[in-house]
Amino acid sequence: MQLNVITLFPQMVTDALSYGVVGRAIKQGTIQLTTYNPRDYAENKHNTVDDKPFGGGAGMVMMYDPLYRTWEDMKKNLATGPLLFMSPQGQKLSQKMCNDWSQLPALTLLCGRYEGVDQRFVDAHVDEEVSLGDYVISGGELAASVVIDAVARQIKGVLGKEASAETDSFMESALAPPQYTRSDLLGQSGVPDVLLSGNHQAIAEWRSQQSLLATERKRPDLLAGTSGD
Ligand code: SAH
Repeated sequence: MQLNVITLFPQMVTDALSYGVVGRAIKQGTIQLTTYNPRDYAENKHNTVDDKPFGGGAGMVMMYDPLYRTWEDMKKNLATGPLLFMSPQGQKLSQKMCNDWSQLPALTLLCGRYEGVDQRFVDAHVDEEVSLGDYVISGGELAASVVIDAVARQIKGVLGKEASAETDSFMESALAPPQYTRSDLLGQSGVPDVLLSGNHQAIAEWRSQQSLLATERKRPDLLAGTSGD
């Protein structure tokens, strides 16, 4: 899958995604991560990409022209897929959205900075606004990295075992069951017997029961289908 990011701070995104399973998938070419910097398309003396908003007010806004030229160039040169704008005003990110995007051949994420982006660019070119949640962070780069990580996990070959994404929380509208592993300090005390039994069917049943219990206790809204995602 081709994943593109439009950002004034490309290294923030490439660094954030350079670790673990996602970092390996990028190195191996299972997913292609490409960044485009609107500053390279500024076409003015100081490579300016931001300006004061019309009507006044605090802060700066990302200008239309560099963004437009970036986007046109990208469309000429690579698969872009839909354009998502990272924005606190967008639809709240969910597992379902990430699963759906992971089926696409390409996806592009636009990171805002300063007070945001000239609304004309959003109106004309953005397909969807996506939010991490009801709080404001200083730029879209962390948000885009979260989206890409969550999407990448769903792509075949990114996780070691195909099964591990299926048992993640939210995949079946339930949370993942608790896990235990070797401890010199604790030994096997506190580990449910069934997990040590070697009985795979009993283990699977216990896990799905625990999934349900954890969901009832921590996120009953998921079971009631009222989570709003
Ligand atoms: N003034 C804007 C916020 C600007 S924050 C407003 O109140 O709506 C600067 C940039 O950070 C935004 O353009 C967006 O790209 C990113 N950002 C901030 N909060 C975010 C969130 N909750 N989810 C996704 N992106 C966010």
